[in-house]
Amino acid sequence: MLAEVSAATDAEVDAAVRAARRAYDTVWSRMPGRERAKYLYRIARIIQERGRELAVLETLDNGKPIKETRDFDVPTVAAHFFYYAGWADKLEYAVPGKPAPQPLGVAAQVIPWNFPLLMLAWKIAPALAAGNTVVLKPAETTPLSAMLFAEICQQADLPPGVVNIVNGAGDTGRALVAHPDVDKVAFTGSTEVGRAIARQIAGTSKKATLELGGKAANVVFDDAPIDQAVEGIVNGIFFNQGHVCCAGSRLLVQESVADEVLERLKRRMSTLRLGDPLDKNTDIGAVNSAEQLARITELTGAGEDEGATRWSPACDLPSTGFWFPPTVFSNVTQAHRIAREEIFGPVLSVLTFRTPTEAVEKANNTPYGLSAGVWTEKGSRILWMANQLRAGVVWANTFNKFDPTSPFGGYKESGYGREGGRHGLEGYLK
Ligand code: NAD
Repeated sequence: MLAEVSAATDAEVDAAVRAARRAYDTVWSRMPGRERAKYLYRIARIIQERGRELAVLETLDNGKPIKETRDFDVPTVAAHFFYYAGWADKLEYAVPGKPAPQPLGVAAQVIPWNFPLLMLAWKIAPALAAGNTVVLKPAETTPLSAMLFAEICQQADLPPGVVNIVNGAGDTGRALVAHPDVDKVAFTGSTEVGRAIARQIAGTSKKATLELGGKAANVVFDDAPIDQAVEGIVNGIFFNQGHVCCAGSRLLVQESVADEVLERLKRRMSTLRLGDPLDKNTDIGAVNSAEQLARITELTGAGEDEGATRWSPACDLPSTGFWFPPTVFSNVTQAHRIAREEIFGPVLSVLTFRTPTEAVEKANNTPYGLSAGVWTEKGSRILWMANQLRAGVVWANTFNKFDPTSPFGGYKESGYGREGGRHGLEGYLK
């Protein structure tokens, strides 16, 4: 075990919300935007300065490879604070055609364990830039980087009460969401808990954004550059052990190139290195928890039972901890659970299609709608697919690209509201 962290009681949640309210009323909402910006820039710079420490802590806590925390998570977190710092004194442009908007007040923010720091940045940076104060609850299996972030806020001399971190599991999250002095709820996590939160706040004046699950299709046409597509497929599903809401977990490949793509994919998967997340050569780290490993194991077992063909490269799994090898299922049908349910692990389900129309039908045949990928040389087809796919993000000839200037969010059961870009600010303004 790495650390034990105590769960906040209802009284502590109440104290955190009251601190946020006090800071909102007396300091933060009254401060000129250009002053708030200084704090956000300062936080961004400290994140860069302490980047190594944050990356190591995040890898220890979450299990993801250090090369991802070092080269992706931490730089993207800093980029979010820099980006939203730039908005703090330009809010009159945030909602086009409307007078300068006002902050909402106190935001309750609940985040998952797959990108602890990045989800924190997606939530806290726009909220603070817009003039809100926050109480954030990290996931119960990954609380450590949020606590280090609290220390960074102190180092940046952020006024007390502007950012509050409470720890705990679902009960703490529920108490936070239910608190009468909360004006806005921002949740990222499973569709199931998202639904429970939507029910819980129904009939109150609380605003909400929900960023929920996904089952993205990565669509490869026969004219796609195959080597590049294979890299994109690997990145799409094996990045962060597949613990990614927008992971390309369903590969839809045109029938005429399906055998070739699968062959090259298997060859590429054989080169992936699984093991010690702190080793900078590691591609696939540890699964975050025993519970998550049990879910991946259960669903992949169902894949075999239902008749799909399972393949993984030979790889030695470490003897202690939670590990799952990169896995691909072929001969998958749309009825299979592995084609419908979010596995949230390094497991790819391969389906085939003949025509673009069939690709669209299959890609959209899911209750989710977070992201999708399209691989083709034809620009006109990219535009056509982007319009047909019911997904908040469509990547063309790439996958899992994130930028603070771009909005991110779902259709259908993947939630509502957007984070990132100007759109991300709108969720914290009235
Ligand atoms: P989860 O829903 O189990 O937990 C998410 C957070 O909610 C945790 O902090 C948890 O303690 C808290 N929580 C649990 N029950 C609660 C309740 N009743 N009230 C308030 N808070 C409660 O999800 P998870 O297993 O931590 O994360 C995985 C899920 O998150 C996947 O479905 C994934 O797709 C989704 N996700 C979505 C996005 C996105 O941007 N759409 C990003 C990352 C992860």
